[in-house]
Amino acid sequence: MELYQHHWKDGTPVHLPLGKVVCIGRNYAEHAKELNNPVPSEPLLFIKPASSAVHLTRPLDFQGRKGQVHFETELAVLIGKPLTNVSASEAQAAILGYGLALDLTLRDLQSQLKDKGHPWERAKAFDGACPLSPFVAAEHFPNDHITFSLDINEQRQQSGDTRDMLFPIVPLLVHISRHFTLLPGDVVLTGTPKGVGPLLSEQTLKLQLEDKLSVFTKVV
Ligand code: ZN
Repeated sequence: MELYQHHWKDGTPVHLPLGKVVCIGRNYAEHAKELNNPVPSEPLLFIKPASSAVHLTRPLDFQGRKGQVHFETELAVLIGKPLTNVSASEAQAAILGYGLALDLTLRDLQSQLKDKGHPWERAKAFDGACPLSPFVAAEHFPNDHITFSLDINEQRQQSGDTRDMLFPIVPLLVHISRHFTLLPGDVVLTGTPKGVGPLLSEQTLKLQLEDKLSVFTKVV
């Protein structure tokens, strides 16, 4: 398989390796509700391996996967400094850039695994399970109020607003850093707003990060 490499919006490579993608489940109350999940009192964390990352700009191909692949559109935070047990200001200073990601999920399989109380890696860590957009440097985001959206076949499907997060980005990074180290090149996915659903063959997707980044892709 081709090794994924981070890129900036202008096409130049980010010279940092992707080590891992740390994800938070249920960071938007409305999404927790739509899947009949309780709203958590502390962040629910899981990790996608580097081998799950692909370029979002390439066509999404799930031929041969078992069951429906659901999209979750998420704001992706690119980490630029090592973070172990950090303060809020250190976490803030370590944000190198922002992009968008699809946290792809084999929803039927995930439900089966959850019912058994098993880890859900097989549903979320498969090759191609983490399409990532190019990144925009953090300096272009003057504050932590950031919005993003997903359109499928030109219909608005998801709208995200960091103000709706149960665990905002900086406190989330601080929390993660208390449990394990984030390294330069790691990515943190910050949860999906409501509106998740299945990806279907021939769909066209447009992901938008404010007026700073538009990414188009399609499902094979
Ligand atoms: Zn997610």
